[in-house]
Amino acid sequence: MNIVILLGAPGSGKGTIAGRLAAEHPELRHVSSGDLLRGAVAKGTEAGKAAKAAMEAGQLVADELIATMIKDVIAETTGDVTMLLDGFPRNVRQAEILEAIGAPVKSVVLVDVPDAVIADRIAGRRTCPQCKAGYHIHALPPKVEGVCDKCGAKLVIRKDDNPDTVKDRLQVYHAQTEPLIAYYEAKGLLRKIDGDQGPEKNAAAFFAVM
Ligand code: ADP
Repeated sequence: MNIVILLGAPGSGKGTIAGRLAAEHPELRHVSSGDLLRGAVAKGTEAGKAAKAAMEAGQLVADELIATMIKDVIAETTGDVTMLLDGFPRNVRQAEILEAIGAPVKSVVLVDVPDAVIADRIAGRRTCPQCKAGYHIHALPPKVEGVCDKCGAKLVIRKDDNPDTVKDRLQVYHAQTEPLIAYYEAKGLLRKIDGDQGPEKNAAAFFAVM
C-alpha cells in the first residue's frame, strides 16, 4: 500500500479528482477525511458528536480525533493499493502524526485554484448524501436536476457550504493548511497541478504527476 496526499483549498475539486480516479482505476482508493467525519456525525458516534460543532463552524476538528480515524483506515488497508488521501493532513501537526505512524507517502499533489474561482464553485456545489458523488449546478450538473446520476438519491447542499462558513474555511486553509506546501516541498514530495481545467483534465493532470 502507498499513499498519495491531495492538497488544496475547500472547493479546489480535490474530492472530485480523487472520486473520478478511484472509479477508473481499481487499485486506487479514495479516502476523504470529511466523508469519514460526516459519516460519524450521521451515525451519532462519540467521535461524530465531538466533531459536529467545529465542522458546522468551518473550523478544524481536534487533530487526535481525525488522526485516529485515518490511522484505522490505513491499518485496515493492505495489498497493492494506492490510497488517495483527501483532506488529511490539514496542518503540520497532522503531517507529523502521519509520519510518526510510518505511513508510506509516495507524493503530495497540490490542486491549485484561485480563491475567486473557489467561492463560485462552492456556491454551486451539490453532493449525494448516499454515494458521496459530487456535482456542480453549472460545471458538472446531474442528468436530472437534484438527483444523483449514480444511485438516484436526492442531492443536498452541505451544511457548511454557506457563504459565511466558506469564508472561515478558506481562512483556516490559508493559515493552517497552506504551510504544508513548504513542509512537503522540503521533503521533495510536492507536485502541483492547475485545478482550473475542468473535471476531466484536472483528473488526468493529477494522474500524470501523482
Ligand atoms: P472541504 O475540503 O471542502 O473543506 P472536507 O469535507 O474535507 O471539506 O471537510 C469538512 C470539514 O470536516 C472541515 O471543515 C473540518 O471541520 C473537518 N475536517 C476534515 N478533515 C479534517 C482534518 N484533517 N482535520 C481537522 N478537521 C477536518
